[in-house]
Amino acid sequence: MTDSTHTGGCQCGAVRFRVKGPLGDASVCHCRMCQKAAGNFYLPLVSVRSAKLTWTRGAPKRFQSSNFVKRGFCGDCGTPLTFEAPDGVALAIAAFDKPQGIVPKMQWGIEAKVPYVDHIPNLPGEDTMADQDSASFLARLVSYQHPDHDTTEWPPKERG
Ligand SMILES: [Zn+2]
Repeated sequence: MTDSTHTGGCQCGAVRFRVKGPLGDASVCHCRMCQKAAGNFYLPLVSVRSAKLTWTRGAPKRFQSSNFVKRGFCGDCGTPLTFEAPDGVALAIAAFDKPQGIVPKMQWGIEAKVPYVDHIPNLPGEDTMADQDSASFLARLVSYQHPDHDTTEWPPKERG
């Protein structure tokens, strides 16, 4: 698939990773364990078993979800990060700084698919800033989310 360097990490920036080499299969998993681990309807994952994964800042906490699998997440902010099986590690696609290019090619665990998932693309949609009722709130909002790139200036000094 893609052969280069990819970076990413959790929402708060306590855990950052770098992947060098080819990314493997990208997929979404609908199984009940992945739903729980993601806190979401399904979990998008990409295999990094053929690449070199380095934790460049911090390290994930892990929950052993079965006798075979550990799931890594940020112990500070809770962002899901890894699926670690005996045959290799997969990373949560949305934790990458540039998830746009990591395109899922397969769905797993479809027996557990939440029934309305397939209807979500048909729901009415709106840009964030189009919500006039929230405009004054959004204008005052300051994001504490780590930026989508590696930086040594984190966390920002004014936040302490
Ligand atoms: Zn975090």
